[in-house]
Amino acid sequence: MREVEVVVIGAGQAGLSGAYHLRRTGFEPDRDFVVLDHSPGPGGAWQFRWPSLTYGKVHGMHSLPGMELTDADPARASSEVISEYFDRYERTFDLRVRRPVDVGAVREGPDGRLLVETSDGTWATRALISATGTWDRPFWPRYPGQETFRGRQVHTARYPGPEAFAGQRVVVVGGGASGTQHLLEIAPYAAATTWVTRRPPAFREGPFDEEAGRAAVALVEERVRQGLPPRSVVSVTGLPLNDAIRKGLADGVLDRKPMFDRITPDGVEWADGRRVAADVILWATGFRPAVDHLAPLRLREPGGGIRVEDTRAVADPRVHLVGYGPSASTIGANRAGRAAVRDIRRLLAREPVAA
Ligand SMILES: Cc1cc2nc3c(=O)[nH]c(=O)nc-3n(C[C@H](O)[C@H](O)[C@H](O)COP(=O)(O)OP(=O)(O)OC[C@H]3O[C@@H](n4cnc5c(N)ncnc54)[C@H](O)[C@@H]3O)c2cc1C
Repeated sequence: MREVEVVVIGAGQAGLSGAYHLRRTGFEPDRDFVVLDHSPGPGGAWQFRWPSLTYGKVHGMHSLPGMELTDADPARASSEVISEYFDRYERTFDLRVRRPVDVGAVREGPDGRLLVETSDGTWATRALISATGTWDRPFWPRYPGQETFRGRQVHTARYPGPEAFAGQRVVVVGGGASGTQHLLEIAPYAAATTWVTRRPPAFREGPFDEEAGRAAVALVEERVRQGLPPRSVVSVTGLPLNDAIRKGLADGVLDRKPMFDRITPDGVEWADGRRVAADVILWATGFRPAVDHLAPLRLREPGGGIRVEDTRAVADPRVHLVGYGPSASTIGANRAGRAAVRDIRRLLAREPVAA
C-alpha cells in the first residue's frame, strides 16, 4: 500500500485547483500527494461535452489559478479548447495526474488514515480532496409508462448534437441552460419540438448581477450546511435573456409547456388528455454529485446530502468536497481548491500560508 498526505480524486477544474495549491505550498507530487482521475484524458467533464457546444457558447468559464486561458477560438468545440488547456496546465505545474484510475471506495484505515481503493491499488492518506463533479451521475426522473416508450430516450450527458434529430419529433425536458441550448439547436433540424419543464423557466434580464450571484451561492451554501442535497447555482440564478433566447421566445421554439403526467408508447400525455407524439425524449434534467465512493464513510445526512462547512465534511474533517454545491462552478471550484488546501495544511500541522 502506498502512502501520501493528500489524495485528490478528480482532475477537473476543482481537482486541478486543489493540486495547484498543494504544489504551490510545498507539497510534492507522488511523494506528498497524488491526483487520480478515471477519464481517459485531461479536461475533466469538458472532454465529454458535445461538439456543438463551442467555446463561444460557454459563458463564464474562469481560467484555472496561475495560468490564463487566452486567445481561444470561440468557434472551436469547448471540449477541445478546454482539454488542451488543462493538458498544458497539468504539464506546466507538473501535477502528474494518474489516469485512468477509478476510485471505487474510500474507507476508514489504520492510524487515523483513509484508505482510497482504486482500480490501480490502494492509497493510504491523511487527507482527501474529493473533486469528482457531477458528470458521472446524470439525473433521469421517472414517469409512469417510461419503459413502454418505443422511441429513443437520451440524456444531456450523451447529447449527440442537433443533426442526430433531423426529421424527428423531439420532446425536450428541463428548463436549465442545457435544455434551452438543445432546443435552439435542434429546432431547425427536427420535424417538431416540444419543451416541457416542471416549473416555469426563470429568465434574467440584463447583465449578470454580482449581488444576485452571491445571493444564489449563499442559498446553495446554506443547503449544504444543513446536509440537504445541493441545488445547482444556475437553477437559482436563472437564465440570462440573451439574443438567442429572445429569438427562441419570439418565434415560438421556447414555448414552454408544463410537465407531462405520463409517457405512452408513442409520446407523452397530460392528465387532461392532451398528447404529443414523439420519436425522442431528450432529458436535460441535470446531474447529481458523484459521491458514491464516499459511501463507506457514512457522511450522508438524513436530508440526503453531505453537511459541508466551507469545503470540509462536517462529519469528517479529513474529507474536503471541492466543486460540490456552492463551489460547483469554475470560479467556485478555483476558490474552493485554495480553501481546502489551507484547511488541510492546518489539519496536517504544516506552516500556515498567506491567503
Ligand atoms: C453543459 C455544462 C456547461 C457548463 N458551463 C459552465 C460555464 O460556462 N461556466 C461555469 O463556471 N461552469 C459551467 N458548468 C459547470 C462546470 O462544468 C463545473 O462547475 C466545473 O467545470 C466542474 O469542475 P469539477 O472539477 O467539479 O468537475 P468535472 O469537470 O466533472 O471533473 C471531475 C473529474 O473527476 C473524475 N472522477 C469522477 N468520479 C471519479 C472516481 N470515482 N474516480 C476517479 N475519478 C473520478 C472525472 O473523470 C472528472 O475528470 C457547466 C456544466 C455543464 C454540465
